[in-house]
Amino acid sequence: VLADVYIYPDPTWAALRKALGEFYDVDPEGIIVGRGSDEIIHMMGLSFLNPGEEVIYSLPAFALYPLTTTLMDCVHRQIPSRDHAHDIQAIAEAITDKTKLIFIGNPCNPTGTISTAEEIAWFMDQVPDHCVVAFDEAYYEYVDDPAYPDTLRYARDGRHCVTLRTFSKAYGLAGLRVGYGIADPEVAKAIRLSCEPFNVGLLTLVAAEAA
Ligand SMILES: *Cc1c(COP(=O)(O)O)cnc(C)c1O
Repeated sequence: VLADVYIYPDPTWAALRKALGEFYDVDPEGIIVGRGSDEIIHMMGLSFLNPGEEVIYSLPAFALYPLTTTLMDCVHRQIPSRDHAHDIQAIAEAITDKTKLIFIGNPCNPTGTISTAEEIAWFMDQVPDHCVVAFDEAYYEYVDDPAYPDTLRYARDGRHCVTLRTFSKAYGLAGLRVGYGIADPEVAKAIRLSCEPFNVGLLTLVAAEAA
């Protein structure tokens, strides 16, 4: 592919989306590819947040959640962790009419804890439709606890949520910058409104597809 780098990359990421769609048995139309899942977090901020609205996340948090919240001039609703894990009940109780985005790091970086399928199922019953939930699963491939949830089922059900995964950790491609989000196609379309054309490079797309 090195001989082809004078050509712009596919702005629709068709080959990688097809491969991921088959790998996870999801609709490729619901897949967004970013320059790392970090870029998708920023796209979600641009697409969904207006100044003064609220973003909920657990503390300690992965750095991108507060960065995007500040960038969009939104209110930080920080929920202290309990026994190093997300306090899912407190996060649900913090939702207001102004809450737009909720980050659930699962596993949580930096604490390494998980939220269980049972907790997430209860939580999704509490979340109203005006909120988008970002399940940040950058370390998904390392989890062997059977209590870990399959969050793709919420995207398949058309819920307002995105499951974020990456080639940076388990696949060892952090330097190439490529991650992805899996969502309902309508949710994915809204996120793509904030995406630059040609955001992911040609060699990176090919490496991700091979991985
Ligand atoms: C590493 C990481 C990311 C972002 O990874 P990218 O390299 O941007 O794909 C997102 N969330 C968490 C919790 C991470 O640890």
